[in-house]
Amino acid sequence: MQEFLFFSLGACCASFAVCCADRFAKGQSLLFPGSYCDHCFHPLTWWQLIPVVGWLLQGGKCFFCHAKISILSPCLELFYACLFALLCSFYGLTLFALILCAFQLWLLVLALEDRLTMSVSTYLLYGGAALFIAAFWRTAWLTLCQNGLELAGILLFLFGLQFKRKFGSADTIVILTLMLLNGFYFGSKVLFLAACIFLLLHWTKGPAAKAAFLPSLTAGYVCLVLFNQILRL
Ligand SMILES: [Zn+2]
Repeated sequence: MQEFLFFSLGACCASFAVCCADRFAKGQSLLFPGSYCDHCFHPLTWWQLIPVVGWLLQGGKCFFCHAKISILSPCLELFYACLFALLCSFYGLTLFALILCAFQLWLLVLALEDRLTMSVSTYLLYGGAALFIAAFWRTAWLTLCQNGLELAGILLFLFGLQFKRKFGSADTIVILTLMLLNGFYFGSKVLFLAACIFLLLHWTKGPAAKAAFLPSLTAGYVCLVLFNQILRL
C-alpha cells in the first residue's frame, strides 16, 4: 500500500516537474491558465491529466487535434513512479523518504528547466539547495570536516570553468549540494558519470554547440542512486 502511494506520488511529481519547466520556459504562471494542448490550445479534461494513463488513453496523440504528444512526459512519470516506490520500500513511509523524493523532484525540475532554456529559476535553485542542506546539516557538516580541502579544490576548478564561460553557476551549486549531502566520493562518482553521459549525448554536436549540463547531472545521480539501492536488494 505504501509503495503504491509513493508510486502514484512519483508519477504525479514527474508530471508536475514537466509542467513547471514548460511554464518557466514560456514565462507563464504555474496556476493559470489550466493545462492545455500545446498545438491546438484546447483545455485538457481531468482524465487526460492522469499521469501515464492519460497519454495511453489518447494513444500518444491529442484527443482534440490529433497532434503527437511527446513521449518524454509519460516515460519520466513511469520512471519516477518506480524510483519513489523503490525509495519507499527501503525507507518506509517516513519523513526521510519524503525528503529524498523531494530532492529528486528538485533535481528533475532544474534539469528540465535547464534543458529547455539553458537557465533555471533562481529562487528554486538557491531556495532548494538551502532547504536540503538545512534538512541534512549533520551530513553536510561531516562532509565539510572530512573532505573540506577536496571540496575547495573542486569548487576552484568549477569556478575556473565558469570564468571561461564553459560552465554555469547553477551546475556548481547543484554539484556542491550533491557532494555535501551524499559525501565527497559519491558526489565525485556522480560528476564523473554525468560528464560521460554529457559527452555521449553531445559529442556529435561539436565543441561550439551550447548544451545544458544539469540533465546529465540529474541522470548520473539517479543512475547511481538506483544502482546503490538495487545492490542492497
Ligand atoms: Zn491539441
